[in-house]
Amino acid sequence: MSDRLSQSPGHPLAPPDPTPTDRSHQPELGTHPRQRAWVEVSGAAISANVRALRRSMAPDCQLMAVVKADGYGHGAVPVARAAAAGGASCFGVATLGEGLELRQAGVQEPVLVLGNLIQPEELRNCLQAQLMPTISTMREALLCQNLASGSGRPMAVHLKVDTGMTRLGADWQEGPRLAQAISNLDSIQLAGIYSHLAHADAPMDMELNTQDDLSRLQLQRYESVLAEVQNQGLAVGCRHLANSAGTLRHPSLHFDLVRVGLALYGHRPASHLGSGIGLRPAMRVRARVSLLREVPAGVGVSYGHRFITQRPSRLAVVGIGYADGVPRLLSGRLKVLHRGRLLPQVGAITMDQMVIDVTDAPDLELGATVTLLGGENDLDPGISPETWSDACGTIPWEILCGFKHRLPRLGTDS
Ligand SMILES: *Cc1c(COP(=O)(O)O)cnc(C)c1O
Repeated sequence: MSDRLSQSPGHPLAPPDPTPTDRSHQPELGTHPRQRAWVEVSGAAISANVRALRRSMAPDCQLMAVVKADGYGHGAVPVARAAAAGGASCFGVATLGEGLELRQAGVQEPVLVLGNLIQPEELRNCLQAQLMPTISTMREALLCQNLASGSGRPMAVHLKVDTGMTRLGADWQEGPRLAQAISNLDSIQLAGIYSHLAHADAPMDMELNTQDDLSRLQLQRYESVLAEVQNQGLAVGCRHLANSAGTLRHPSLHFDLVRVGLALYGHRPASHLGSGIGLRPAMRVRARVSLLREVPAGVGVSYGHRFITQRPSRLAVVGIGYADGVPRLLSGRLKVLHRGRLLPQVGAITMDQMVIDVTDAPDLELGATVTLLGGENDLDPGISPETWSDACGTIPWEILCGFKHRLPRLGTDS
């Protein structure tokens, strides 16, 4: 891995011009980006993951790179560029602000806002920035119609139907009626109809080896909506249903487009999905040793003295903590990598610091870099976010998007 700090202009991970939104990704004022703790992101891994996923899809099926939550903590703009380089044709975001960030950075591909925008002002900004809103009710469809009617071009929207997730979307039985009503509005273009799977990461059904019961039911409902809309003589537009789990689970869930988040970043939504795809984790989290201490046996470490040294110990203080996105629940359960060795974190993880027991790593020096997530080189998968999420009872999605802007994001491809 290259140790360069800046990228050539035009590179997928070249730092964007420091616009106000991008400033949050820059190192802290006056600080070298690798001074304390940082996130390294491989755009090459993201591009390779898109290519690998597309090889498992029909050639005419599109891949939407889901870059919400700042690209699952990797940095939305560089992820979008790398995903496009790998063959992603459009992007999914959760909020208006996330969509505007892509547009301000010059991203031109179609962008779908997956969350619900309900304020006229938000929908107006959507129209102006050519972001596609998700429509779940007639109320928002009419707002879009009013906003777009004076603008000279129809506003592209996607209709969402709820087939069993019970979250966003119109009830699936209402779908065809809503599609008809939207099609009657002359300033709206129904660019797609989609739904979202609630259980696609469920264990494989041993007999059918494809769908779990809920995904099968959701698929049936979704297909019945599409059939009815088509029977009404309407164009359905782009059809999409699958998240990462659905994409890896079975091609019958792919339709015209898949919406891929977690797998884009190199992680599998469940251990039985995607083992043959060869996904590459795109993120490394690293931090530097800022102080070394020699202490005797019997010394309590960090808040609450949850850890007492059992032997004369060498302790390393590392400048990363829960305010950066390392869950405090991992206190005493985390290990970090240094030159191929796993070293235990001890005592409570604090807001900005943690302590590593480096008694067994006498070669570790002040200023050494330890790796908290990912590997020490490209051949080493290293520590996965699943290791963390399993240890603290959550899911890898939450671990990845928990990394905060205090950590500079650095591209690592030469
Ligand atoms: C977040 C999201 C996705 C991506 O989910 P992954 O499991 O990370 O692939 C897809 N579709 C919708 C509607 C989402 O909100």
